[in-house]
Amino acid sequence: MDLQLSGRTVLVTGASSGVGLATTEFLLAEGAQVIAGARDLRRLTAAVEALPGAERALPLSCDVTARDQVETTVQRGIQHFGALDGLVCNAGRSLMSTLTDASDDDIREEFELKIFGAWNVIRAARPQLAASDVGAVVNVNAILARQPETRLAVTSAARAGLLNLTRSMAAELAADGIRVNSVCLGLIDTGQWRRRFEEYAGAGGELDYQQWSADLATDRGITLGRLGTAAEVAYPIVTLLSPLASYITGTSIDVGGGVTRQP
Ligand code: NDP
Repeated sequence: MDLQLSGRTVLVTGASSGVGLATTEFLLAEGAQVIAGARDLRRLTAAVEALPGAERALPLSCDVTARDQVETTVQRGIQHFGALDGLVCNAGRSLMSTLTDASDDDIREEFELKIFGAWNVIRAARPQLAASDVGAVVNVNAILARQPETRLAVTSAARAGLLNLTRSMAAELAADGIRVNSVCLGLIDTGQWRRRFEEYAGAGGELDYQQWSADLATDRGITLGRLGTAAEVAYPIVTLLSPLASYITGTSIDVGGGVTRQP
C-alpha cells in the first residue's frame, strides 16, 4: 500500500538507534525525506548513512531538552527540505528507579525529558506543520503510562503526563489541522535492553542474551512470548503519520505483544 508519504518531510528525534532508526529507515523506504536528530552526531550520521535512501536524510545534532537546539534543528531542516509535514517525538530512555531511590534531580530530569522532549519539538515545528496539508505528530510513549511498575516509578509517572498531554495537544493543534497520536510500547529489543543485559552480564549473570530476553518476556507476561523489534514499532508510527490516517487523532496504539494487563 502507498502510505502517501513520498516527498513529504518528517523530523525523527532519537534517530540514531532502536525505534528512531527503524522509523527513519521505514520513512526513507516510503520515499520521505527525514530530518534525523540525536545528541551524538557521529553515531547518528554513521547509522543514517548506512540506510538505503540516506541521500534524503539530514542528520543533525540535537538534545531535545534544549529548546534553543530544537529550534535551530527545526529551522535547519526546513531550510534544507523546504517543508515539514510530520514529527516523531521518540528521543528518550527509561530511568530504572523506585520513587524512594530517585533523587530530586533524577525526577526533574525524567519529567524534563519526557514532557519537554516532545513539547519543545512540537512547539518549534507547529507553524510549519500547520502550513502542511497533512501535519501529524506521533509521540513515542510506553504502556507504563497507564500501567506503572515499581522499578520504573518515576519514568511511569512522566509517561503518564505525556500521554495525558498528547490528548491536550491533539485538541489544541486540531485548529491548525495537525493530528497528534501516541504509540505506547511494551518491551522492544533495542539499545535500552541490550544495555541492561550488559549490566546483568557484567554483574556475573550467566545467561546469553536470547535466554535472558526470553526469561524477561515470561517474567513480564508478554502474550506473544518475546520482546518486540524496532521494525514492529516503526510500522504503526509511520501508519499514524500517513495522510491515510486523516481521521485519527488524540489516540494511542499499544505495541506490546499483549503485555497490557490493565482493565
Ligand atoms: P535507544 O536507546 O535504542 O535509542 C534512544 C535514542 O534517543 C538514541 O538515538 C539517543 O541518541 C536518543 N536520545 C536519548 N536522549 C536524547 C536527548 N535528550 N535528546 C535527543 N536524543 C536523545 O532507545 P529505544 O529505541 O528503545 O527507545 C525509543 C523511545 O521509546 C524512547 O523514548 C524510549 O523511552 C521509548 N520506549 C522504549 C521501550 C523499549 O522497550 N525499548 C519501552 C517503552 C518506551 P543520543 O544518545 O545520541 O542522543
